[in-house]
Amino acid sequence: MARFIFITGGVVSSLGKGLASAALGALLQARGYSVRLRKLDPYLNVDPGTMSPFEHGEVFVTDDGAETDLDLGHYERFTGVAARKTDSISSGRIYSNVLEKERRGDYLGKTIQVIPHVTDEIKDFIAIGEDEVDFMLCEIGGTVGDIEGLPFFEAIRQFSQDKPRGQCIFMHLTLLPWIKASGELKTKPTQHSVKELRSIGLAPDILVCRSEGPIPQKEREKLALFCNVRPDAVIAAQDLKSIYEAPLAYHAEGLDQAVLDAFQITPAPRPALDMWEDVADRIYNPEGQVKVAIVGKYTQLEDAYKSIAEALTHGGIANRVKVNIEWVDAEIFDREDPAPHLEGFHAILVPGGFGERGTEGKIKAAQYAREHEVPYLGICLGMQMAVIEAARNVAGIARAGSEEFDHEAGEKRFEPVVYHLKEWVQGSHRVERKLDDDKGGTMRLGAYDATLTEGSRVAGIYGSTQIEERHRHRYEVDVKYREKLEEAGLCFSGMSPDGRLPEIVEWSDHPWFIGVQFHPELKSKPFEPHPLFADFVRAAKETSRLV
Ligand code: GLN
Repeated sequence: MARFIFITGGVVSSLGKGLASAALGALLQARGYSVRLRKLDPYLNVDPGTMSPFEHGEVFVTDDGAETDLDLGHYERFTGVAARKTDSISSGRIYSNVLEKERRGDYLGKTIQVIPHVTDEIKDFIAIGEDEVDFMLCEIGGTVGDIEGLPFFEAIRQFSQDKPRGQCIFMHLTLLPWIKASGELKTKPTQHSVKELRSIGLAPDILVCRSEGPIPQKEREKLALFCNVRPDAVIAAQDLKSIYEAPLAYHAEGLDQAVLDAFQITPAPRPALDMWEDVADRIYNPEGQVKVAIVGKYTQLEDAYKSIAEALTHGGIANRVKVNIEWVDAEIFDREDPAPHLEGFHAILVPGGFGERGTEGKIKAAQYAREHEVPYLGICLGMQMAVIEAARNVAGIARAGSEEFDHEAGEKRFEPVVYHLKEWVQGSHRVERKLDDDKGGTMRLGAYDATLTEGSRVAGIYGSTQIEERHRHRYEVDVKYREKLEEAGLCFSGMSPDGRLPEIVEWSDHPWFIGVQFHPELKSKPFEPHPLFADFVRAAKETSRLV
């Protein structure tokens, strides 16, 4: 049966709880254990699928088609364990489950209360698949003291009581602010945060303290004394130049040892960290640099394209180069010539997105990349824009566009080269959707197979003609334009197994121009860079040598 590690946060948000959890997961794996990471989010949205990327960062999609918080991306990147639907839940989902059961009469007319009905729902969720792994790491979103978080804190308190002693531990992440004027590291906010936790019945076993510098012994002892933890369970988490150093840095600070001590696992198996040492070595000792432009819409918030940025870093790891990303707002090209903005980049990436705004700019970016032979990777909307560019400027379909934009505008202006997908095949059954379904849950989501053309560039890159990648979209390139576009030179080198849905396009006579309908970035890891990103960065490296 799994041991449980509950990870909570205090003092301020954005301390990197997700990253700390992910790095701890990686360290436990390095010691030979199996792990699963889970995120419990207190917000009331039923899932993050409809939350604005401006506000919440990217939506991370799992193989089984869940739209989740971007922290699940961190979990996967550090542990390689594919997240599932059952690894992410919000208050909204919990309440909606409880209310659904109430409507069905499952509670037999009882009064429905936060305790026990909501807390039981949370506890059932935490326990899913507990027999499958050695350690289950559950991160509670938000900060201790938040009203929305209370049922979660209560649920994990009860959960640890329900389990045999020693099967659950609590790790609390806080901030030690540095007061410049007095030259002091302050422990008081952490003390208060722990006091808050204790008032709701939770006593942390481990404190992870974000601080700008190392924690002096005196402060460490003070924290241990006032917060009732062992001095060696006070772990300093200093800012790192690369997140991928986190497993090594936490190990050096004794985090994994403290966790195993808290579970009284002795002797602890020694960790094998060579994989992480190699990753850090490649990141910190690059042999060159490349400059990649990401031409997108949500460029003010880098988290909106989190997995893409990480996958590019992984591509850099594969090629021992540092990838410098510059965010270019696609809307600029609505007004201005892209050339001066895109000159000097060794590669161009157009990411996914929704809505018409900025799309003409993305089309121009694709055109620029095609005409100037700059490596281009178009992801989802970025692929659709590349196809529209090809249709308009090479295949002579002057009014080519996407139905998405016509739907949005409420008028028919374009020839729908990209059209709304109303039904598709998932495994052995057919899925049907109407456009006026609820906004949430009307997309083609999760892992789907694709068949690649023998001898195509992508088949070479993947080293296979059968692939499986994750999707999140409503619109598709219409296969009826295939012949016309292929005559123009745009090869449809990846298709759904039934041949109806274009999955990959590539310009056969371009050094590197690939558009994919899926999201390869979601499956890339630092220790296993995604082949498309590895090869895209290789192509960028080649371009950098030419200029
Ligand atoms: N908006 C496009 C669609 O729904 C692309 C989506 C995406 O880029 N993820 O098909």
